[in-house]
Formats: sequence, structure tokens, C-alpha cells
Amino acid sequence: MLKGEMRVDVAVIGGGFTGSSAALRLAQAGTKVAVLEAEYSGFGGSGRNVGLTNAGLWINPEDVEKAVGKRHGERLNEFLGKAPDLVYELIEEHDIECDALRNGTLHLAHSEKGLQAIEERAWQINARGGSVMLLDKAETYKLTAAENYLGALHDMRAGTIQPLDYCHGLMEAAKQAGADIYTGTPALGIRHKRNKWHIKTPTGILIADRVLIATNAYIEHIYPLIKSSFTPMHYCQMATPPLNEEQLKHFLPGRNGTWDTRMVMRSFRTDAAGRLIIGTIGNIFADSAPLFTSWANKIVRETFPGIGPVEWTYKWSGRIACSENYVPNLHDLGRGLYSVSGFSGRGIAPGTAFGREMADFILGRINSRDLPLPLSTIKSVPLNKLRELFYETGSQITRLYDYIT
Ligand SMILES: Cc1cc2nc3c(=O)[nH]c(=O)nc-3n(C[C@H](O)[C@H](O)[C@H](O)COP(=O)(O)OP(=O)(O)OC[C@H]3O[C@@H](n4cnc5c(N)ncnc54)[C@H](O)[C@@H]3O)c2cc1C
Repeated sequence: MLKGEMRVDVAVIGGGFTGSSAALRLAQAGTKVAVLEAEYSGFGGSGRNVGLTNAGLWINPEDVEKAVGKRHGERLNEFLGKAPDLVYELIEEHDIECDALRNGTLHLAHSEKGLQAIEERAWQINARGGSVMLLDKAETYKLTAAENYLGALHDMRAGTIQPLDYCHGLMEAAKQAGADIYTGTPALGIRHKRNKWHIKTPTGILIADRVLIATNAYIEHIYPLIKSSFTPMHYCQMATPPLNEEQLKHFLPGRNGTWDTRMVMRSFRTDAAGRLIIGTIGNIFADSAPLFTSWANKIVRETFPGIGPVEWTYKWSGRIACSENYVPNLHDLGRGLYSVSGFSGRGIAPGTAFGREMADFILGRINSRDLPLPLSTIKSVPLNKLRELFYETGSQITRLYDYIT
């Protein structure tokens, strides 16, 4: 908890992947930096996610180029294609214990249309220097033991991590490098006075020359306008107790993190203890979501019939920040105040990489033209409430349909 007045060169608000990565880079450069985190490291999306350390964004490389223009699009595709390297390098360099595996992720095709979609994606990635592979039905089954999938895109640039452990490790590395970390310390207000930013917290004031807001979908109290630049979408997960050896033969024997091509996608992954973790779009705790457990039981029965009945020990949900074009936003809010948000469901590698990149920009190591994305002012997503309702209602209706058919 920050008490009294403190002066730093840079203040970082938010202690997820983005804020911790930025703080680490800034502290390593000898900058006086402090992180304000309202709750604890990883409280936001960083501690709740599936753990897929993916390369690139959800949208295809060509769509990235259409969304932000050819020059930035090409640069961004290259930057995010390499971003998992940075994650695994940081894990090694700072000895972060987070069950890191780099055996490739599998994007599973659930239909002929899904198959065409992964073929197109693979073509676009490989045309830009990537080397992802397409697996046929038998090869996909061998790695997953999942029924009903027609093939998969195997991306060896990617892998899995235990996301909360990775986030804790990144924050600890920032602390070791000299960053001051204040958890349980929300930024309650921010004002520019006499050339400095004054950030009010419950028991103190942080005064900084420059500020990076790294709060993504979990932003509270400060700069409400940022909220209008993305649509919150829930993603929920459920985990079983560790499966036994026999059951594990029938669930992801290749131990790859997976998700599928459905519009309301499903993800399956296991962890170091051998739990089955299933995920999908929607808020598991919403009043309109009573069917989640029955839905999950049915999906497991149909997809991994060899496992037999399972129990669910953990359920959790998190908020994703979907930007209007599904490309992150780098906002220049003026007078040395910046924000990064709108990761649109891809934040482990992008958050780590953009955190570092914004730190390099703040340090003056790169100029704004060299950033992988242009700095912009805030633009609100049109009909944002309606878009939010569409995501949630659409996911609930799809689950109901899955359950009754
Ligand atoms: C359920 C789920 C599954 C996902 N799966 C994947 C995946 O498999 N792979 C992948 O790459 N990405 C995934 N994502 C996306 C990824 O988790 C996010 O993009 C990423 O965590 C964003 O990191 P961040 O540091 O920018 O924000 P966050 O991790 O959300 O951190 C923001 C922090 O800011 C703090 N904060 C907010 N307001 C204030 C304030 N006023 N003062 C101080 N602190 C404040 C919050 O407490 C929070 O800890 C998933 C997201 C969710 C929700």
C-alpha cells in the first residue's frame, strides 16, 4: 500500500502481463518506476486465461493488414509472430516456474468450413515467413484423442503456460530489477499539475513524469473513456480434479493447448497436474447461464468419450477487451500519458511484448514511428452495449442449442 507522497519517473497502472513487462523493462534500464495494482498480480485477464501462448492475433494476418494498413499490419504480424519467443526467453532468464511447455498449439477444425478457415490461415501465415503445419484427421486425433475434429493447424511457435504463475513471476522479476510494486492499491484519480501526473490512491499520491495505463478490460476508477474503446466479452472455464493415468490416455495425449473453429469457440487444455480444463465464451456466473455444467458434461462425453464421467472442482470467468477491429489500441492521451488495451483475447505474448515496447518508447529507445502500431486518440466502439449483449446472448443461445441437439 502506497503511503504519503512518492515521486517516480514512470508510473504503471495495472499489474498484469502488460504492466509487469513494462515495469521490468523500465526498471532494468535504471528508471525509477512504480506499479499500482488495485488487487494483486494477475487479478485481471492475466490470471484467468487459458494459458495459450499464441503467436499473432485472433484475426488472420491479411485482416490485420486491412485493419491497420499494409505498413503497420506487416510490422505487427511480424512483431506478434515472434512475441512467444519473448515470453519463453523471460521465463528462462528469470527462472519463472509456470509449467511452460512449447510443443505447439492446435487450432481444431470442427467442420468443413472450419477446415477451410485453418487452411486459409495457415496459407496466410506461411506466405509471411511462418511455418505452421496442417494436420489431417488421424494426426489430430493422435495428439488430442478428440472425436469429431477434421484436422488442425499446429503452430510450433506457440505453447502453454500456467498464466497466473507467469504473471506473478514477471511481477517478481520487475521487483527484483528495482520497480516499486504496490498491490491492493487502486489508482483512484489522475490529474496533470505543474508538469507532472498526480495519481491519487487510498492512502497516498504517486507523482510521475509519465504514466502507462495497462488495465485492459479491468479498468476501474480512472479514465472512463478508455472503456468505450473496447467491448467486454466474457470467457469462462471449468476444471476437473487431476485425471488418472488411464483417463489421461484419452485426453490430449500430446498435451497441446487447443481451441476450435466454432464461432462460440471451445478450448481444451490440461495442466501439470493433469486436470481437464474446458472453456468457452460467456459468463459462467450470469443468471442466464444455469446450463454450464450440463453443457460441459455433454461436450466431454461427446468429444472425449474414453474419459468417463468427470466432476468439476473449479469454475471461473474473465473479461476480454475486444477492440473495434480486434487489433490492440495504443493510446496517446497527451502530456506523457499512454494506455494499451483491446487485446481481443490474445494477451500473453502480445501483452508481454507491447508492455516492453511501450517501455522502450517511454525510455526514448524507439520513436513513435517505430512502434508496431500507431499511437492514436480514443475512438469509441459504435453501439458498444449492443455488441456486448450480442456476445453474451449469442454464446448462451449457442450453448443451449449444443445442449439440446
Ligand atoms: C478467460 C480468458 C481467457 C483468455 N485466454 C487467453 C489465452 O489463452 N491466450 C492469450 O494470449 N490471451 C488470453 N486471454 C487474454 C489475456 O488474458 C489478456 O489479454 C491479458 O491478460 C491482458 O493483460 P493486461 O496486463 O493488459 O491486463 P490485465 O491482466 O487484465 O490486468 C489489468 C490489471 O489492472 C488492474 N486495474 C484496473 N484498474 C485499476 C486501477 N484504477 N488502479 C490500479 N490497478 C487497476 C486490475 O486489477 C488488473 O489486475 C484471455 C482472457 C480471458 C479473460
